[in-house]
Amino acid sequence: MNKKYFVWTSGCQMNVHDSEKIAGIFTETGHHKAEGSDDADVIVLNTCSIREKAEQKFYSEIGRLKKLKKHNPGLKIAVAGCIAQQKGETLFKRFPYVDFVFGPNNIDNMQKWIDGNNVNTALEDNPDYHTKILPVRREGQVRAWVSIMYGCDNFCSYCVVPYTRGRERSRASTDILSEVESLAEEGFKEVILLGQNVNSYGNKSSEDIDFPGLLQKIHDINGIQRVRFVTSHPRDISGRLIRAMKDQPKVCEHVHLPVQSGSSKILGLMNRRYTYKEYKEKIDILRKTIPEIAITTDIIVGFPGEKEEDFQCTINALSEIDYDGIFAFKYSKRPDTKALELPDHIDERTKSDRLSKVLELQEGITYKKNKRLEGNILEILVEGESETDPERLTGRTRSNKIVNFHGDKKDIGELLKVRILEAKQHSLYGEKV
Ligand code: SAM
Ligand code: SF4
Repeated sequence: MNKKYFVWTSGCQMNVHDSEKIAGIFTETGHHKAEGSDDADVIVLNTCSIREKAEQKFYSEIGRLKKLKKHNPGLKIAVAGCIAQQKGETLFKRFPYVDFVFGPNNIDNMQKWIDGNNVNTALEDNPDYHTKILPVRREGQVRAWVSIMYGCDNFCSYCVVPYTRGRERSRASTDILSEVESLAEEGFKEVILLGQNVNSYGNKSSEDIDFPGLLQKIHDINGIQRVRFVTSHPRDISGRLIRAMKDQPKVCEHVHLPVQSGSSKILGLMNRRYTYKEYKEKIDILRKTIPEIAITTDIIVGFPGEKEEDFQCTINALSEIDYDGIFAFKYSKRPDTKALELPDHIDERTKSDRLSKVLELQEGITYKKNKRLEGNILEILVEGESETDPERLTGRTRSNKIVNFHGDKKDIGELLKVRILEAKQHSLYGEKV
């Protein structure tokens, strides 16, 4: 068989990594990667349903594929990811040219479809999914995503993830460690541990291990030089984890800690289970223990019931916490979620207005923080050629800031010292020292 596959991906790091697993299964079954959807024999759309905008993106992509299928009736099309899980078989009605629909916890079951078995969906609970060892075809050769857990039990009132990715399940530490050991043997230098709430790793498993314990074991693997993780839930970030971050030199000084809102009233309605004061206390401990730590966050504006004074609390939080970077979103109504039933939904214009204010404020803060780094000598891990300028290489500081610089291709995969010459809004420019 010499068929070509193409995987289209939308959404979070979890989806990006899932697409690497989908590509891994195609590769193992003798398929080759196509240049694009136009020259593929089989296409998988790996979808995201976190916000309505992501859903719209999928609709326009699948619409485009209708023409391709008309010209090439042998083309096979599958829909994967969170929209697939949520919409299930209804997708066949709306898009009759789709052949297979499978959810994020059923990537292993894609094999049956590839093998030509007469199946058109894989959407079941698949409770052992977290025990499966799947082949992975990774995009880079320096840093690797590694799933440590699947699903989420937090049920934040705005979020579809618990409905699309199911209950929280941790992978066995032995499986994770052997994956990281293989990555180290293949020459990968950095691992990014993935889960919706990594701090609750191991909580529901029969193994006697928690996230800081897992971090220590991964830290001790020879060859791996940097360890990161994403995402941490603010309620569960523990003193033990903060100490582990401080004591384990390979664990990078960056934490993504989504606050969502600066108003404790809104946090309550979001079912986040912390107040802004409690969140701020954790930030203070983090900064006291690891002064050089970079902190980034997610913000939702225009959540139902968000009054002007609540929004002001978010603005104040951004100024007070002085984040290194943020991802900010307008609240988006999602099917099945509790927030749909809340009173006082906010109009689109107010949401857009608030989003602009948040982004504008943060742009200034991020730039100011980047500017402070000018003249500093920092360690970066070189990842490859810069996407924006093929003349330059790109790498990341321990605090996860992107640095572009002129270097040799042989530097790729190396830890280097660079002097920061110029701060930009979203990156830094430096020179090798
Ligand atoms: N598990 C992570 C956490 O709890 O922070 C992140 C999950 S989600 C993939 C990433 C971000 O999307 C969330 O932190 C939140 O800010 C945003 N998000 C989730 N649902 C949303 C919605 N309905 N409307 C707008 N933003 C949303
Ligand atoms: Fe969604 Fe909350 Fe779970 Fe994050 S913790 S995935 S925001 S339900």
